[in-house]
Amino acid sequence: MAQVTPMMKQYLEIKAQYEDAFLFFRLGDFYELFNDDAVKASRELEITLTGRGQGETRIPMCGVPHHSAENYMTRLIEKGYKVAICEQVEDPETAKGVVKREVVKLLTPGTMMSDHFIQEKENNYLSTIHVCEDGSYGVAFADLSTGEGRVTITGDELEDAIQEVLTAKSKEVIIASTSDSELLNRLEQEKQLTISFEDELDDQKEYASVYQNLQQEKLEATYARLLRYLVRTQKRSLAHLQPATYYASTSYLKMDQHTKRNLELTETLREKRKQGSLLSIVDQTVTAMGGRMLRQWIERPLVIKDKIIARQQAVHTFLTQFFEREELRDELKAVYDLERLAARVAYGSVSPRELVQLKKSLQRVPAIVQLLSTMQADFAKGWFKDSDTYKQISDLLETSLIEDAPISLKEGGIIQSGYHSDLDTYRDASKNGKQWIAELEAKERQVTGIRTLKVGYNRVFGYYIEITRANAASVPEGRYERKQTLTNAERFVTPELKEKEALILEANDQTEKLEYELFVQIRDQVKQYVPELQQLASQMSELDVYASFASVSEQRRYVKPTFSDKRQIQIQNNRHPVVETVIPRGQYVPNDVSMGDSRGMLLLTGPNMGGKSTYMRQLALTAVMAQIGCYVPADEAELPVFDQIFTRIGAADDLASGQSTFMVEMLETKHALTKATQDSLLLLDEIGRGTSTYDGMALAQSIMEFIHERIQAKTMFSTHYHELTKMEQSLTQLKNIHVSAAEKDGHVVFLHKVIDGPADRSYGIYVAELAGLPNMVTERAEILLAELEGASREMAVTVEKPDVNSANERAEADLQLSLFAVDENSRKTKKAPSKKEKNVLDAIG
Ligand code: ADP
Repeated sequence: MAQVTPMMKQYLEIKAQYEDAFLFFRLGDFYELFNDDAVKASRELEITLTGRGQGETRIPMCGVPHHSAENYMTRLIEKGYKVAICEQVEDPETAKGVVKREVVKLLTPGTMMSDHFIQEKENNYLSTIHVCEDGSYGVAFADLSTGEGRVTITGDELEDAIQEVLTAKSKEVIIASTSDSELLNRLEQEKQLTISFEDELDDQKEYASVYQNLQQEKLEATYARLLRYLVRTQKRSLAHLQPATYYASTSYLKMDQHTKRNLELTETLREKRKQGSLLSIVDQTVTAMGGRMLRQWIERPLVIKDKIIARQQAVHTFLTQFFEREELRDELKAVYDLERLAARVAYGSVSPRELVQLKKSLQRVPAIVQLLSTMQADFAKGWFKDSDTYKQISDLLETSLIEDAPISLKEGGIIQSGYHSDLDTYRDASKNGKQWIAELEAKERQVTGIRTLKVGYNRVFGYYIEITRANAASVPEGRYERKQTLTNAERFVTPELKEKEALILEANDQTEKLEYELFVQIRDQVKQYVPELQQLASQMSELDVYASFASVSEQRRYVKPTFSDKRQIQIQNNRHPVVETVIPRGQYVPNDVSMGDSRGMLLLTGPNMGGKSTYMRQLALTAVMAQIGCYVPADEAELPVFDQIFTRIGAADDLASGQSTFMVEMLETKHALTKATQDSLLLLDEIGRGTSTYDGMALAQSIMEFIHERIQAKTMFSTHYHELTKMEQSLTQLKNIHVSAAEKDGHVVFLHKVIDGPADRSYGIYVAELAGLPNMVTERAEILLAELEGASREMAVTVEKPDVNSANERAEADLQLSLFAVDENSRKTKKAPSKKEKNVLDAIG
């Protein structure tokens, strides 16, 4: 290797410890990147690539000014990279040889705290998957910006652990570098995830309190990996981390990633935007922390009935007391992001301005407590028990901080007068000095008789007396000392002026220093109460969410669902919470859902575009809304508490992953069939359409039979294989339902009304017309259809049903029958491909 300078040697040594990060190496006013880092960063950040050194030893280099570096770093993190910040840790003036440098912080996607990077109403979870000694998977999360930590054991199936991580929308996952390839390969499929390695476990001494609620070794070990990584990357106190809490993954309604995406719970399928999701409808929270809590609730609905009912009671309280609720929300609007403020207090990064925000937030507590008491809000009994503490903190901040305190802590303007006598003395001195100077002008004008004499200030010379050249003769030479000559004027000082100036500067200096010290003291005082503040934040968030539920339920006329212990679904006039808001008012057609003992499974037929998937989705969304404690879009609703929801609706979002649509469909169906229980809700949209008619129908039927015999989950199944409707005769719990359509003047009108019984036809040709296929094609199709229908009727009479006994044999016979019918008839039931389907077909070639 060519010889390197001592500085480069230092660089290379440090870089070797941070192979997987961009090393931002501080050189004077710049951060420099070298070698591969430089090449890559110049491309990613569109900055100029230069070089350092000459000839053979020349290496690629690029740099960014330190004052704008954060922006560049954030951009890299957003792309999923890591950044190691390497600073000069000794004074270059006094250093011997190469200035000592160290990495002071490692920025990673899961640990970023910068306001530019994190969304107000979203958590930024760092996660870990830990393989426990018994082979089960532990999963843990921490949000550095709020201090929250959670741990669970998902069992011994990798996919469950993965789903847990995906559910939290984590951007970064920590694993041991010795993890097996199965784990690594699976994680690598998730492009949005940055994978990081940590091989040490935290020794659990320094942060004992974080572990206090984790009584199991597996949980501790899982969290220990996460914590060690945090300590290693943050290189500063993590005192604000709250005690991590254990949660059982079975204590939440399970939905896999596909189901969540498909139901558009927190973002839409295509644009990945919040607007148009369930969240956007029910989120009327007025605080950022309330918004985050609501999002978490939607991601993880409850399964314990009592807990759901407790939430409903809170919503009921707010729903029935409109004025108090709105007053409470007005109070909450004045509350800042307490959760993040508390974290910043603990982290030592809180600014004076933010402490004023904390104060303003705390000052809302008494009014909120009062309102809750007026409302007789039973659910909030025992809340806000630390009100005295909140008052103490807000009083302290009220008497100490200036109302419009700045962000910076170094420039003064933070502490009020009257708070500290030394500070008052300095300020008086400064003020008196300035006063004296202000009076000097008039005084000197009188003494010298120069009417244009001025007193001024500049940074270089300080205070001066300025006299125009025309008056030069009147300058009292003995007393004035010449300081600066301008074209038209001379500037002077007097010993007295200099003395006052020194006094002012000194006083200002002392003021700033003391203000800083006092601020740090105040901050440390507040820091003792971080746990109380975190609790307050969480209670305020909860109030915000309940008020939001009440408000949306009122506006959209939702009702409180009841929960059936007999696995009954009885919903009157159910609506799709999102679709009903996007179509013109009054045009949404509500539908009943009835599923119970004799109708545990519904087979839904009807024309394309008739409203089948909307009907299925609205049921799933209603179940989710019920289980987060919200009211539901219906006139009346009774549902079971579901343990899991599986949907297999559409596949547009899977195309990008490169698997064939049909394969994805089968994988997900397998997932549903192996995991579902009789307490689950299964929504299967046109299973089997991705393969040939025979295959597809056979699979669809056998899947239905399997669910019917083995799982008995509440299942809704839509199909355009009309022949499957015959299953109603063999599967006792299966009922046919269909979305209705009518013909009017030769056109089809979708009524969107769901009615019992099978659909009589599939209207494929009408949909083709709607899609604008040439008339010649659709007219010819009409003729062919008529011919085919005629042929099929002839066939049907010649086929005799074999003699069968058992249900299975019967089903088999039915299948054979229906397959036979389709053989002659498949084109009848095959729909013209919809635009969506066409895209799919194009995409898979
Ligand atoms: P399918 O799954 O049967 O092809 P969709 O459920 O996708 O049909 O519905 C097609 C369109 O019909 C939807 O985009 C929606 O605008 C409208 N629609 C569906 N259900 C209703 C309803 N109950 N009331 C009013 N419009 C509806």
